[in-house]
Amino acid sequence: MSTVIPLSSIGVAEQPVETYIPAPQEFYRQGGPALDSFKRRINYLRISLTDRCNFRCLYCMPEHGAHFAPRSELLTDDELVRVVRAAASVGFEKIRLTGGEPTLRRNIVEIVRGIGATPGIREISMTTNALRLAEMAGPLREAGLTRVNISIDSLNPEKFRQMTRGGDFARVWAGIEAAERVGFNPLKLNAVVVRGLNDDEVADIARLTVDRPWQLRFIEMMPLAGVGDLAEQSVVPTREIIARLEQVYGPLEYIGWFGSDPARTYRLPGAQGTLGFISSITEPFCSTCNRMRLTADGKLHLCLLRDNELDLRAALRNGASDEDLSALIRQAVWLKPWGHGLPEGVKPTLRGMSELGG
Ligand code: SAM
Ligand code: SF4
Repeated sequence: MSTVIPLSSIGVAEQPVETYIPAPQEFYRQGGPALDSFKRRINYLRISLTDRCNFRCLYCMPEHGAHFAPRSELLTDDELVRVVRAAASVGFEKIRLTGGEPTLRRNIVEIVRGIGATPGIREISMTTNALRLAEMAGPLREAGLTRVNISIDSLNPEKFRQMTRGGDFARVWAGIEAAERVGFNPLKLNAVVVRGLNDDEVADIARLTVDRPWQLRFIEMMPLAGVGDLAEQSVVPTREIIARLEQVYGPLEYIGWFGSDPARTYRLPGAQGTLGFISSITEPFCSTCNRMRLTADGKLHLCLLRDNELDLRAALRNGASDEDLSALIRQAVWLKPWGHGLPEGVKPTLRGMSELGG
């Protein structure tokens, strides 16, 4: 019989979870899929494989002085796969690998294979800047990666370089083509819209979907640590992006808003692909949230836009059994806050997006 690890010893909730309703210990040992205290089923884990990146996007990382965790603080490959196994045992089914830039993680192909072999996991996807995808798309696909989302904020190489602080558009485009060629279909592309930078380009970016079956998603910029000021001044609301598109293309066809997908989906008239809008700031989707995040240094981060975390690495390195890990993940799910508190002025301060994985 394993011991129950007290929450106080693993640094749960670095800021109070105002919605927290304690459940009895027996609850965390129950079977069945993990539900939070608002009865949302949480089955999607986004794993940041590294906090490092080969870009420095304006809305994500500071140009200089970003904090990187020492290697000894990152979860090892074996620890990662153990966490995934424990998550699967409480009903997690979807894993997304992100970062930082996930393709910079050593052994990424083997990590994908290990996660893919975990009973209960039915989808492993990745969010990437695609700089290394031309070489890696094939091996990743062969290892069992099911989908990729590629971030691309501009089709103008100079603007792209400016927004990523040095990114090479041609290599990224080659990565996109490789992803399509090896069968990551339908391809998903993400563009964060920043006022004064790429807001004048949304119609050109959207045009990519006219004769390609791609799913392009426009994302409202969020105020994570390090970029809060930029985000406050430069967020472009979804309704404004749609208005710009409709000026050029006429009325968009509304397709729907499906389950826990944060994007509302539309289509340009006659287009093969679709357009999604992720409006975290102007139209939050917290009520259908199904996700939690694991930081590269082993913390379960309960809500993207809050600082609450539960330290799984401490448990792993203090001898937690598989049963303990499953119970801790179930506990973290229970502690998940209702939603973000931006409208009330509650801002995340601990981590930047590159540590959390978006
Ligand atoms: N490096 C990979 C990439 O860029 O795709 C994965 C990590 S990145 C943090 C994941 C996603 O978060 C990307 O689509 C990126 O555009 C988005 N992102 C980063 N900072 C953001 C911010 N402040 N607001 C909204 N989205 C952001
Ligand atoms: Fe790197 Fe992705 Fe952040 Fe850009 S958005 S700096 S590519 S982690």
